Amino acid sequence: MRLTFLGTGSAWRMPEIGCDCVICGEMRRRGETRSRTSLYLEAGEKILIDCGPDITRQWAANGLTGVDAVLITHEHGDHYLGLDELEALRRSAEPARWHPIPVYATEAAWKTIEQRFAYLLGKTLERRVAQPGKPLGGLKARIVPFKTFHGPVARGAVGYVVTAGKKKLVYTSDLLHVEEGGKLLRQPQVLVIQTNWVNEPQVNRPSHLSLQRALTMIHDWQPQGRVFLVHISDADPVPGDRANVYLKKVPPADPLRDPRTGEPYPIPTCQEEWQELASQVFADRGIEAPVQVAWDGLTVEF
Ligand SMILES: [Zn+2]
Ligand SMILES: [Zn+2]
Repeated sequence: MRLTFLGTGSAWRMPEIGCDCVICGEMRRRGETRSRTSLYLEAGEKILIDCGPDITRQWAANGLTGVDAVLITHEHGDHYLGLDELEALRRSAEPARWHPIPVYATEAAWKTIEQRFAYLLGKTLERRVAQPGKPLGGLKARIVPFKTFHGPVARGAVGYVVTAGKKKLVYTSDLLHVEEGGKLLRQPQVLVIQTNWVNEPQVNRPSHLSLQRALTMIHDWQPQGRVFLVHISDADPVPGDRANVYLKKVPPADPLRDPRTGEPYPIPTCQEEWQELASQVFADRGIEAPVQVAWDGLTVEF
């Protein structure tokens, strides 16, 4: 199985337009970007997990060669608004050889997606329904959706478990907690998990996972291989930053603390600091699985 992290950022990419916070400033200085979170998976078939508004740029940047199926995790713009871009693939195909690309989403997610993109269905895209707990039909890879809770504005949210041979990948997407899944999620070789914030904010809006909260799931699921962190935002306040008054900067409820000093860990402002923090937090909590903060374009084979 080969994974390419096409994007690793939150809903409005990073750095965000109109934002002069310390995090966005440092990313600009370093030339770092995180586009909307999306994963390209090669496991016999070429599978795209989520298709946000950055897909055309992500496709070109990573030299993608095709897509056999698209899995949508939920009906938020950063996860599906790029579906229209796939029309370009049909335009550059011989009409007699073209088959619409199968797109999987739950019934609840389709309600929203269909309203927006009905004109693509049957022609560019084929509507397929993902049912939590049941393997997706019509694919060679064994892929099972599991139901997640991502708030009342994304009732169709699911994550996906992909199994190829003896290897298991758990992909969570945006969530606050898992509603069903149980054994299916335990001991994956690869876990791709959302960490929208470092610290759990006083008000969790709109139902995302912080690294702090993700630690509980990582503890329960006991990943046997690597853990990748994605969907990273700039919403953690950085002490002393005058941008802390912005709407998105919600203070932590009770921040993660360094056990040696009792002080909160520093908030990372760039890839290097994120990796340092994640490795330290895992080591301090005795989590053996190596953690990798994913970046746009990261490719791994497992
Ligand atoms: Zn999202
Ligand atoms: Zn979302």
